[in-house]
Amino acid sequence: MRTIANPISVHKFGGAALANADAIRAVVNILAGTSGERVVVTSALAGVTDILLNIARAAAKGDLATAHAQADALLERHVSVAKSIDSAATSTLTYIDDSFKELHKLAENVAQARDLSAQMSDLIISRGERLAARIVADALRVEKISACVVDATEFLHSDGRFGDAAPDIARTEIAAQNIFPDKLRTGDIVVVPGFIAAGSSGANGSTGPVVTLGRGGSDLTATVTARALGAKEVTLWKDVPGFLTADPRLIPEARVVPLLDPREASELAYYGAKVLHPRALIPLDARTTLRIRPFNQPDAAGTEIVQGRSMAGSPVRALSAMTAQALVTVAGNGMLGVPGIAARTFGALANAGISVSLISQASSEHSICFTVPEVAAALAEKELRAAFATELERNEIDSVEVLLGVATVAVVGSGMARTPGVAARVLGCIADAQVNVIAIAQGSSERNISFIVNKECVPKTVRAIHTTFSLDKVGGGRTARRRGADVILLGCGRIGQELLKNIAELPSNDRAALRIIGVLDRSGFMLEKRGFSLRALSDISAHKQRGGSLKTLPHAHSGAPTAAIEHIASHALTRPVLIDLSSGDTRETLLRAVAHGMDLVIANKIPLASDSASANALLHDARKRGRKVLHEATVGAGLPIIDTVEKLIASGDRILNIVACPSGTMGYLFSELGRGRKFSAALRNAMQLGYTEPDPREDLSGRDVARKGLILGRLIGYVGELNDVAIESLVPTNLRDISLAHFAEQLEMLDQEWSERVRAVTSKGEVLRYCANITRASVKVGLVGVPVGSLLGSLSGTDNQFVFTTTRYRDNPLVISGPGAGPAVTAAGVLNDLLRVVIS
Ligand code: ADP
Ligand code: ASP
Ligand code: MG
Repeated sequence: MRTIANPISVHKFGGAALANADAIRAVVNILAGTSGERVVVTSALAGVTDILLNIARAAAKGDLATAHAQADALLERHVSVAKSIDSAATSTLTYIDDSFKELHKLAENVAQARDLSAQMSDLIISRGERLAARIVADALRVEKISACVVDATEFLHSDGRFGDAAPDIARTEIAAQNIFPDKLRTGDIVVVPGFIAAGSSGANGSTGPVVTLGRGGSDLTATVTARALGAKEVTLWKDVPGFLTADPRLIPEARVVPLLDPREASELAYYGAKVLHPRALIPLDARTTLRIRPFNQPDAAGTEIVQGRSMAGSPVRALSAMTAQALVTVAGNGMLGVPGIAARTFGALANAGISVSLISQASSEHSICFTVPEVAAALAEKELRAAFATELERNEIDSVEVLLGVATVAVVGSGMARTPGVAARVLGCIADAQVNVIAIAQGSSERNISFIVNKECVPKTVRAIHTTFSLDKVGGGRTARRRGADVILLGCGRIGQELLKNIAELPSNDRAALRIIGVLDRSGFMLEKRGFSLRALSDISAHKQRGGSLKTLPHAHSGAPTAAIEHIASHALTRPVLIDLSSGDTRETLLRAVAHGMDLVIANKIPLASDSASANALLHDARKRGRKVLHEATVGAGLPIIDTVEKLIASGDRILNIVACPSGTMGYLFSELGRGRKFSAALRNAMQLGYTEPDPREDLSGRDVARKGLILGRLIGYVGELNDVAIESLVPTNLRDISLAHFAEQLEMLDQEWSERVRAVTSKGEVLRYCANITRASVKVGLVGVPVGSLLGSLSGTDNQFVFTTTRYRDNPLVISGPGAGPAVTAAGVLNDLLRVVIS
């Protein structure tokens, strides 16, 4: 074997790095910054493999029109990228043209046969990487970097299995050593199409038809090539900052793991960490370091995977999940102590070409269960029933059962072997998240605990473990998340409209960081993953204010808010925040949102003023999951009331008493009465100005003030329910249950009594105020007379006032007053909270 003197490096670029001509130029830039002998492995341009597969499947269904149309669009895309890279590269243009001519032909053959063999599928999709390799080589030459293309089938030998071939490392090594050294020595960068290989050899040593290495296989091309050439380094340039502690689509705050042992990385990849082909680490030997680095930040170190080195720190390194699994259980009394059942079980599956991942056998040997890919479940069941036909008949084996829709979650880390209690912590936190574990297995290496859960539970399971082991704090790593936050609005009426106005006025950087991706109401929801335009939102809000429901809008889904949260949470979200602008009982929705990792900004008083058990459950749950709950707008709208209470408490002060006028409606009413206005006239005016709820009795009953009092009370340690709050209602008993119209007609009848009350306090030099009086022991709301010249007495219009008497502010209480009612200031409070969540 010839040895190669210079250190060789292999660089693989995934589809996302080859999205378009600009991206490809950025790839060339990265390569221009490297030196030594270099091999470049290319994926297909972004999304191309999927489109080629669609074409093949459409053809197999006889839908040639679709197949041809998609092929033409794809041709167009390649031609346009190639021309933009190098308009003079006629040989590439001819190559592209020929490749697509062949594709049209193949599609016709498939359509005629109405069958898509694995061999044909591989032949069709293999062109994606071959086209990309040529375009990348052109792009290098344009920048005066000499480059040539070596087709993978010239050296990468395999076992010839279509769709999922395994490389033949020994043969590949010999072939590569024959081809590469000369080319590399002349200074060429050798560009190799990834993902494809030569089929198995016939008896005469010839190679078979082209095969593919399984989806994501260009990672494997890179590591096999590195092995064959004894390369010092392989770098996989991806769209993530490195190998992350969890899939960033599930856990936006996942962090880069700076250093991984190949065995750890292998287990993660095997159990579904999509960042790496599951078999990519097999060829890697001790000479070679593998790096996963972000192509859009070429200076970042990413993740280094190298034998014999691993990181200290948490026993758990990272998590992965594999969905679309089925759990098969073979059970029966006759299995007890009978040797060979397991061997026969797995033998039967191996013969059918079904690969088994997690295996768990109860020590009683009464049953054995394992997972197989969901698509193979029916075949697995059939094979097992055939293999155990006799035992089934004799009832030695009772059943072969298949449970579909499960997922395997793997918790991986070398440190687990040395740390007692990891399994208990893992299982404890998933139990807390109320996830049922269906089966569990711990590898004897103790490097991996994997278990089966229902597939719907994967996000919350992964999140629970991620939080429990503080993986979002892994040192040295950077988070994967995009900047900013994905915001979901629950309710989008008047406050929503004001919020949009405020957002539109933000500096453009902040505005761009707030993507409103979802809007919900009782009837349905709308979702736009890239974020709605302010214009679209404004239309939605206008529709809501006209009394329309969301589900009647085009592109809306119907469904309850809880279902909407489930749906939205199943997408990849960045820093999701749910804003509750509604006025209903949203407890269940908020709990769901927290369970899916959302932070909450709440303007709605109902959930926090509901029974203490549910209000506490929400806050407790959020704290446990590290989620924030900000609700400044529930009391005093945009005034910093909650914030002040929290800061006083945090700084060690003790709040003895809060006296507050927290209702703009009541404030307006009594300042008008003080100026000699009649009650009926003042109330009618308040209704016209939009200061009251649609039914003003909501305000006059005192319940709104009581809710605010309760929310404040709970912050300072009041333990009690809304029913425990002493409420003085201003609605006479006989007017409580009549219609609004009827109530409105009776207002004048109340004038007399109110004039007398006003006169009585005026004679004492006082004015009437509707106040909440809050201590740790009690919350009371009702009408009081206060001296004209006092702080509360001087309050006017819809202004709110809060007077805090604390250990430090005892003689001279702390007072906050200002506009505390109305959509505009409420929206300001909400925006403030939102920015606090997003910036922290
Ligand atoms: P390539 O462009 O090289 O083919 P992939 O798309 O195959 O890259 O892999 C990167 C993707 O893997 C990321 O976009 C991310 O969504 C997903 N992913 C899943 N689990 C992880 C993880 N633990 N770390 C990083 N990325 C992950
Ligand atoms: N293009 C292939 C795929 O999409 C291989 C790869 O990207 O690694 O699976
Ligand atoms: Mg990939």
